[in-house]
Amino acid sequence: MAIKTTLAELYKFGPGPSSSHTMGPMIAGFNFYKLMGGLTKKELAKADALEIVLKGSLSATGRGHGTDRAVLAGILGHSPDSCPPELLDELAADRRAPHRLSVKGFHADLCTDSVVYGPTAGDFPHPNTMTISLKAGEDVLLSREYYSTGGGFIEWQGYKAPEKPEPPYPYTTFRELKSYVTEERSLFDVLLANETALSGKSENEVLAFAGKVIRIMQNSVREGLKRDGLLPGSLKLNSKARQLFEKYRSGSVHGKADAAITAVTAMAIAAAEENARGHIICTAPTAGSAGVMAGTVHVLMSRHIRDFARICEGLTVAAAIGYICKQNATISGAEGGCQAEIGVASAMAAALLAYYKGGNADQIDNAAESALEHHLGLTCDPVGGYVQIPCIERCGFGIIKAWTASCIACEEIPASHKVSFDDCVEAMWLTAKAMPSKYKETSQGGLAQVLC
Ligand code: SF4
Repeated sequence: MAIKTTLAELYKFGPGPSSSHTMGPMIAGFNFYKLMGGLTKKELAKADALEIVLKGSLSATGRGHGTDRAVLAGILGHSPDSCPPELLDELAADRRAPHRLSVKGFHADLCTDSVVYGPTAGDFPHPNTMTISLKAGEDVLLSREYYSTGGGFIEWQGYKAPEKPEPPYPYTTFRELKSYVTEERSLFDVLLANETALSGKSENEVLAFAGKVIRIMQNSVREGLKRDGLLPGSLKLNSKARQLFEKYRSGSVHGKADAAITAVTAMAIAAAEENARGHIICTAPTAGSAGVMAGTVHVLMSRHIRDFARICEGLTVAAAIGYICKQNATISGAEGGCQAEIGVASAMAAALLAYYKGGNADQIDNAAESALEHHLGLTCDPVGGYVQIPCIERCGFGIIKAWTASCIACEEIPASHKVSFDDCVEAMWLTAKAMPSKYKETSQGGLAQVLC
């Protein structure tokens, strides 16, 4: 089936620290809130309880990822792009404080501790499963089993994807996408035509949305560079982006190569730390990996000759890399380990960089391939269930690999590159399926096992 994902579905704005464990559950909660609104007053009058049960990886790492407060905020009528961060802070600070849900005369007082942490292992349809049920005694008035499939995307039992028009240039692989490129029609032209057809937006509206993505990404880096001190949670991890950036700015970092690497890494880490604080970030493709693309965009925007339009176009090209990974493999750490998050983010950033530097479609293919290839097999083992260790520094490594990949791809002879991006996506999916579940966002393996 042709890829029909749009920019606004991939680049989502909202609170961190996790797209699958924070944003997805909030979107699921908000979906259930709207479903309740579809019931009649008479039906709602019978209800006396609302039950939320987290399962699988959502249960295993939900506390550190803020899943409970996110789903609750959704049920209270908030979506990630409009949820006031203060509400999330309140829900975290006092887990027993009641928050009133009101729908058509039905009222319920809910608190963070009312979210049930269910089984972490079992034969679930997706590793990130949760159920929300509205009950009247033992009777279930309304219930939906949700799956948070990564990047803030959700599905549910019996889910049917919304009908969308056929794109003018249908593709499922990068090879197919490249086949539409001619002397007169660039890769960006192809993707823009698809985006306008699928989203119903004009070309100007598409570019305006890309501009908003740039602003949110830059803001997450700027805010991260301003703050220092401890990050939230029991790990008591110190933030470091500001310190790194100040060392770079003061000229005290030894040598040009060290200085460049320190600056670029600091920018990726700054956005990743903002994500860990639960502040607003842009998923690319996920929240845990958001620092990679945000850092890359910020560096490009900081250059003396910034080319805003070209970065907007590059974001569209990078998105296609995310779409292909989502469709043919996964962008969920709970399904594929960190190769599916930081690996895909690094591939997207490499494609953006190669496009920005004037690379052709083959060079973009090679850059994305190289970045993803060198993340293959990377496990997801967040210590204590927090999106901090190894996630934050991993964003720093993701951006450096993206830069290296774009340099190799833009300077080598494209035809000498032996592995295609599509081959690498297939390899990632095979690796994901073979990876033991303890390395897929359960906090039961790797560093999480050793340090806790
Ligand atoms: S280790 Fe990677 S996949 Fe796992 S939570 Fe951290 S960033 Fe996400």
